[in-house]
Amino acid sequence: MNDTVKRPSFGAVLTSHMAVANFQDGQWGPSEVKPVEPITLSPAAHVLHYASTCFEGFKAFRQPDGRVKIFRMDMHIRRMQQSARQLTLPEPDPEQLAAMVRAVINRCKDEVPEAPGALYLRPLLIGTMANIGAAATPSSSASLIVLASQVWDYFAGGMKPLRILVDDVNTRCAAHLGVVKTGGNYAAAMAPTREARAKFNADQVLFCPDGEVQETGAANFLLIRAGQIMTRSLDLTFLHGVTRDSLLKIAAENGYKVTERVFSVAEMLEWAKTGEAALSGTAAILAGVGTLIHRGIEHKVGSGDVGPLTRALRTQLVAIHQGLAPDRHGWLQDS
Ligand SMILES: *Cc1c(COP(=O)(O)O)cnc(C)c1O
Repeated sequence: MNDTVKRPSFGAVLTSHMAVANFQDGQWGPSEVKPVEPITLSPAAHVLHYASTCFEGFKAFRQPDGRVKIFRMDMHIRRMQQSARQLTLPEPDPEQLAAMVRAVINRCKDEVPEAPGALYLRPLLIGTMANIGAAATPSSSASLIVLASQVWDYFAGGMKPLRILVDDVNTRCAAHLGVVKTGGNYAAAMAPTREARAKFNADQVLFCPDGEVQETGAANFLLIRAGQIMTRSLDLTFLHGVTRDSLLKIAAENGYKVTERVFSVAEMLEWAKTGEAALSGTAAILAGVGTLIHRGIEHKVGSGDVGPLTRALRTQLVAIHQGLAPDRHGWLQDS
């Protein structure tokens, strides 16, 4: 018998309960934990027409002592407040949102998988005002919903090196929305990514407008080689990943020289001859890139396999998640 259990794919299942709070008349009402069920929305709801929506994604991990800890929730909540502000949506109250996350985790405690599984938390904010004439008016009402999803080892089937299409023509999103985690940005990246899959069998598109390396549709991009790690410096054009930040801190502690700056496609391809490349994000943590496809030419990254430094960095962060390595930065928060 094969001992690998077939698990649902990432995000395909939800826990039994969610938390909901509504904003109206200028303030947030009380939040409530209830069974996951369809929500009621006017067909004229602002979000359905004008895409007033943002979300977050982070994980809670069962620790060796059985307790459940949340990874850097404070940073994710701050990022959601920033997304809401930029979209002129009512800003979630950080204390209320944290309490909603904890309430869902505690209500669904028995549903949190053992490591290397986790509970993926997905707060969602939507503009609910019913007015199809409000194209240039912010939604005066909103719903904040916290969903949770059991997830298992992302690479249960082994780590396959990614094929990445390097696109130096298209942009991922409008320049001022780069730091906003909003559905519209995903919609914008969808067609180029599907086309890259159909034409080049690529897993993702690395957006590099004006020849400057930015990020993919849903993950940050890192270059790694012995003692060095390089990634784009923080600016408004791309999403500031919490995983990116965590990996850079771990790399620095390992004695890596951490370089954050703008770099070109040409520099990246040069680095790829001998170095490693990887994508970072909450879902996969760190995924190795094996091939960069640029203007129809395939460039192997290092050996073309997931690099050893990539694997080692990922292992270190996963050990912190799971409470198997010391949490020196206080990244694990109580549930
Ligand atoms: C969510 C996201 C990331 C990764 O952020 P993490 O905080 O590391 O999960 C990167 N890029 C985009 C576009 C994203 O939406």
